[in-house]
Amino acid sequence: MKITDVRTVLLTAPYGIEGTHTRRRSAAFVEVETDEGVIGIGETYAGVYVPELVPGIVELYKQVLVGRDVNPTRLYRDCYWVTGYCGRTGLTVMVLAGIECALWDALGKHRDAPLHELLGGAVHDRLPLYASGGVPTLSRDQLAAQAAQARTDGYRGFKMRANPVAYQPGIEAERVALVREALGPDMLLAVDAVQSLNTRPWSIKQVLRLLDALAPYDLAWAEEFLPPLDPEPYAELRGRTSTPISGGEGITTAAVFEQWLRAGAFDIAQPDPTIIGGIGEARRACEAAAAHHVQVAMHVWGSAPTITANYHLGFTQSNCVMLERPVMGNPLETEMLAEPLDVQDGHVSPPRAPGLGAVLTDEIKARFPYEPGSASMFG
Ligand SMILES: [Mg+2]
Repeated sequence: MKITDVRTVLLTAPYGIEGTHTRRRSAAFVEVETDEGVIGIGETYAGVYVPELVPGIVELYKQVLVGRDVNPTRLYRDCYWVTGYCGRTGLTVMVLAGIECALWDALGKHRDAPLHELLGGAVHDRLPLYASGGVPTLSRDQLAAQAAQARTDGYRGFKMRANPVAYQPGIEAERVALVREALGPDMLLAVDAVQSLNTRPWSIKQVLRLLDALAPYDLAWAEEFLPPLDPEPYAELRGRTSTPISGGEGITTAAVFEQWLRAGAFDIAQPDPTIIGGIGEARRACEAAAAHHVQVAMHVWGSAPTITANYHLGFTQSNCVMLERPVMGNPLETEMLAEPLDVQDGHVSPPRAPGLGAVLTDEIKARFPYEPGSASMFG
């Protein structure tokens, strides 16, 4: 099966619920067309932040891909070295992630096999899901209602966001207390400081004071309370708190992920194929985490091809303990699924549709046309 074309599809969809900071969100998908009539679909998380830059980078890699056999591992390697001088990590790798996922999707569709089977098979019959939302712009009532809904819907946990652009331990503790009250004592509760994307990041001592304020509410983990720029402060933080420390969603390449693991940065690692460089790099990151006795909870925050790529990979990794399910009201999360997720009692089963299990029909493309200037911006 040879590649005949590679192209980017940008879409913009309504997003969020009442109270969220933005009501639209863009996404970038890669389509890999083949001479067998199969079209593989992948997503790059770069589409949320720099959608207009994605097509140019895809065009660059297209020169490596057209005419070649669909071999995700080999083609990732060959593409990676093309931009090795200027893009060993970061945006080029993130775009390449979308291509690599599309190659796996094409392979799975061609063989009529779900991705997890191509990777050797699922090692879990089902995995617990946690609902992910709780953005800082929600009012207290909206936040409590979202947490209560997660409980009603059977999720095994809930993840909320701290406000990374303010340092307010008292307010964060009140919001976390509200959520714990809504969840009850048994549901997992995690707090994410959204990569601490802040022009005035918190210091380690500030984070320790905040974690002390949150200690009564039994956090499953504190996610990226420090800027994810250097693993050493993460390791220091881990050594000074009993709260598990998680992170890694924005890391590109397995090699960098391994550096963070070697430094002892994480109790829970959160790689994402659509960022780190694709399924192969994310698998290496998960395996490195296992070698360091670190658990994995895949980062899942995108459209259907991102959700399913992460779920398939998580199902093949023994150290994957939980999967994230965004509850942000994004139609591209649900309407691009080839089959609805099989969720029972707050646990999801391995997706069974071929490849990643996502579709990108002409109808979806027409319904969610790209809106220029719709990049998500922090700050
Ligand atoms: Mg996060």
